[in-house]
Amino acid sequence: MSTTKIRTRYAPSPTGKMHVGNLRSALYEFLIAKHEGGDFMLRIEDTDQERFVEGATEIIYRTLDETGLKHDEGPDKDGGFGPYVQSERMKTGIYLKYAKELIDKGEAYYCFCDKERLASLKTEVVEGKEISIYDKHCLGLSKEEVEANLAAGKPYVIRQNIPNEGSTTFHDELYGDITVENADMDDMILIKSDGYPTYNFANVVDDHTMNITHVVRGNEYLSSSPKYQRLYDAFGWQSPVYIHLPLITDENHKKLSKRSGHSSFEDLIEQGFVTEAVVNYIALLGWSPEDNREIFTLDELIKEFDYHRISKSPAVFDIAKLKWMNGEYIKAMDFDKFYERALPYIQKVITGPMDLKHIAMTVKSRIEVFPDIPEMIDFFEAVPEDYDLSMYTHKKMKTDAQTSLEVLKDTLPILEAQEDYTNDALYATLSKYVEEKGIKTGFVMWPLRTALSGKAVTPAGATEIMEIIGKEETIERIKAGITRLS
Ligand code: GLU
Repeated sequence: MSTTKIRTRYAPSPTGKMHVGNLRSALYEFLIAKHEGGDFMLRIEDTDQERFVEGATEIIYRTLDETGLKHDEGPDKDGGFGPYVQSERMKTGIYLKYAKELIDKGEAYYCFCDKERLASLKTEVVEGKEISIYDKHCLGLSKEEVEANLAAGKPYVIRQNIPNEGSTTFHDELYGDITVENADMDDMILIKSDGYPTYNFANVVDDHTMNITHVVRGNEYLSSSPKYQRLYDAFGWQSPVYIHLPLITDENHKKLSKRSGHSSFEDLIEQGFVTEAVVNYIALLGWSPEDNREIFTLDELIKEFDYHRISKSPAVFDIAKLKWMNGEYIKAMDFDKFYERALPYIQKVITGPMDLKHIAMTVKSRIEVFPDIPEMIDFFEAVPEDYDLSMYTHKKMKTDAQTSLEVLKDTLPILEAQEDYTNDALYATLSKYVEEKGIKTGFVMWPLRTALSGKAVTPAGATEIMEIIGKEETIERIKAGITRLS
């Protein structure tokens, strides 16, 4: 067994919101490290200056913080492997130094071709994108020509030199050994004309120099990995364990995109999901424990997470399943925390003087997401005027419009005489009436609840509704029910 300390990294590019796929990579990296007592590092990959989005770095920090994926090292937490931002690393000259080392080994070369020449090259469609296949023109330049070009300040890039014969094999934990013919690989750019490294080069240099042992990323990087392997081999470095994760799709098996409306962590939180539920759900997008267990806290995930159990079949993002899970988290949530998040949704529909905490209590175990609340409780504010009278008819309770009218008329004076409007007292009073009459409880409660709510489904029974809306409103609603039924 190796004694190397596990070191993983989350290496986001600051290009916008935190996509669910990125959060999954971060989570798995975090879990792999923490499961083994290793270190989880944050590295900001900002070498593509054109894609940089203002504020995106803040989103990364905030999301890691909110989700509990605490990094041990990063731009804000030096662990001796910095700088942790690639644009800052570039300034140390590290990428150019290693690129030159490759040039000396014959594994890379300067390329001075201008735009026009590159545009005239043969193109090929790779993964839906048209790319030009570089023809190694500049590999043929003599040392003197290269020196002269450099001295004249001619713009250049540095390209990886991939031979036209042979093949390259690399290993992925999920996909096994993958072998690619060298002739099928392009001489990719390592250093761009603006001096920045490409992701393709920087990820290799950084993962190695930062002692990264496990790399988790989306499988869109799978096809480039043989090129990275060639770089590791050229340097004589050991490559990290690669885990390329399956695509996350929507319910229609299409790549989860912005259009789905729930492709980012921020969107999900905005839609009323609970952070812990989202993290729990994302953990299961490609990984499963030995048993069928589904609810995990982050600490439990750390304990259980074995990356050998990651699956390579596409992971379907099932919003209905997430909603169910979210409901479970809401049920288990501390009430005060729940109330804080529920309050704005309650206040959307309740303006009258009512015990909002009590209302919140009635829905806590019934909602899946917070936006479910308004529709469930709006009747506390007012009974819909034109509610369907057929709701008074209930086969099992043996009620209909006629029996309901009688019950409402009968109970009205009792409720007018009642002073204590707490749920228990009201229930005791009505139970007495039920007993005296020798009828079933539901026979009385059903019409009362209907008159009080105008709804077929409510989060509270008749007497609890009475307690919440109060005596005056209760009497008024029952009178209105009598009028409508008469
Ligand atoms: N910067 C890359 C991205 O955000 C990271 C890929 C990787 O983890 O190597 O997609």
